[in-house]
Amino acid sequence: MMDRPLTGPQDGIGPSRYDADREDLEALIAEIGETTDTAVPSYRVDQLWRGLYSDLVDPNDVTTLPKTLREALAERLPAALVEDTRSVGDDGDTVKWLWRLADGSLIETVLMHYEDRSTVCVSTQAGCAMACGFCATGQMGFDRHLSTGEIVEQVIRAQMEAGNRRVSNVVFMGMGEPLANYDRTWAAVERLHGDLGLSARHLTISTVGVIPGIRRMANERLPVNLAVSLHAADDDLRDELVPINRRYPLADLAEVCAEHVAATGRRLSFEWALIHNVNDRLEDADRLAAYARPLGAHVNLIPLNPTPGWPTRGSSPARVREFAKEIRSRGGNATIRRTRGTEINAACGQLRADRSNVEGHPTDPVTVATPKRRNPSR
Ligand code: SF4
Repeated sequence: MMDRPLTGPQDGIGPSRYDADREDLEALIAEIGETTDTAVPSYRVDQLWRGLYSDLVDPNDVTTLPKTLREALAERLPAALVEDTRSVGDDGDTVKWLWRLADGSLIETVLMHYEDRSTVCVSTQAGCAMACGFCATGQMGFDRHLSTGEIVEQVIRAQMEAGNRRVSNVVFMGMGEPLANYDRTWAAVERLHGDLGLSARHLTISTVGVIPGIRRMANERLPVNLAVSLHAADDDLRDELVPINRRYPLADLAEVCAEHVAATGRRLSFEWALIHNVNDRLEDADRLAAYARPLGAHVNLIPLNPTPGWPTRGSSPARVREFAKEIRSRGGNATIRRTRGTEINAACGQLRADRSNVEGHPTDPVTVATPKRRNPSR
């Protein structure tokens, strides 16, 4: 019998195939052997592992395994993700999925092909408790943490879709706050690195600034990239846009970011969703450049995608360009991120928000108040 039972994401939901590590699979194969009274040689686990992580196939299709074992494994190790909706945009270069999990929760994954790389953006929670007002996921509230297997399988499914184009980068920037689900997120990082062969420098964890989690990342063996969703560089405005700032204010956040840079040698990046007349003014550029410069942080400017429950709008393309110029003229580094998939609702949580509206889901997005921005200067 397995002395370390495989666990699923929460009570009542069984483990999925990518929740199991090698030891779990060894135990499971031995257990199946016992129940069918057949001795199963230990190399079977290597064959299964190769099937799952190299050939990316269902246990039933690992043809090196005997049929009875395949069938038993397929039954005991179901897929975590069932495709609910799949949307393709940008001439096939962006694919977005809405997946239904075993308990009915809905999560999103986006695959983006660029000339030089293919990137998958994964979710780490169903919903999110961080309540950032401009974010469709934040407006829906928190359902639950995802398991390691549910996170890893998003990358596997994206790689299956990508075919010959290798998924080279993974960003933990989908639904949820990765560092609020630290252990499972980090186990997924190790699996992606160790078993799918993704380089740590091509893995990026994005956070709204959960300081204890950033500190833990700084002490990990694998130096992955850190992206902080900053959106405001003064505490008053950030308290409104990103409520976790009330617990982890900007000065403390800068300190722990510096620790991460020193410990890992990785470049830090700040994400900044530009919101018309809220955080796209000259003084915002001033504060942002002054905050980012000492940390050597790179600023990614993102024109805000419209979300149904947020009454403000993103900055115009001209204003975005001007803001980038202002950051650079103050000695900062800034790139304008091309928004992918606006036409397929690829902003975080939007596909699920649409589905919730259709189904009358109890977590329909709510309208949130416009931030009380003082005297917009332009
Ligand atoms: S922006 Fe990120 S952290 Fe904030 S509510 Fe949305 S998913 Fe959560």
